[in-house]
Amino acid sequence: MSSNCIFCKIVSGEIPSGKVYEDEDLVVFHDIHPAAPVHLLMVPREHFENLDVAEARHERLLGKMQLLAPRLAREQGATNGYRVVTNNGPDGGQEVYHLHVHVLGGPRPWKRL
Ligand code: 5GP
Ligand code: ZN
Repeated sequence: MSSNCIFCKIVSGEIPSGKVYEDEDLVVFHDIHPAAPVHLLMVPREHFENLDVAEARHERLLGKMQLLAPRLAREQGATNGYRVVTNNGPDGGQEVYHLHVHVLGGPRPWKRL
């Protein structure tokens, strides 16, 4: 837990988020400013900044999120395709420095991305 991290506070339940999925490794909730009709954030319970600092021991977690994305996208109504995106660092457009995976879908046009 990183004390000033908004996603750590969501993971711990300190800030409510309307979770759509959670397990022992990660939580998934709707982005507060959706860029597409379906916009989920998949957030590991463990705080680490981004892929720059990911380690070999995160391999299973990172793979798990990729494999979970299609199921959650479909369940949330993205039945005609979706994007799976991780932003890393300033030029990657990262705003929250707790690694997360965006799942975006639903009918286009989308607002951004
Ligand atoms: P990044 O730019 O770091 O890849 O994405 C961060 C995302 O987190 C943004 O799309 C932003 O809208 C979302 N976000 C930031 N704060 C909150 C929050 O308190 N609750 C939720 N649900 N989403 C948030
Ligand atoms: Zn965090």
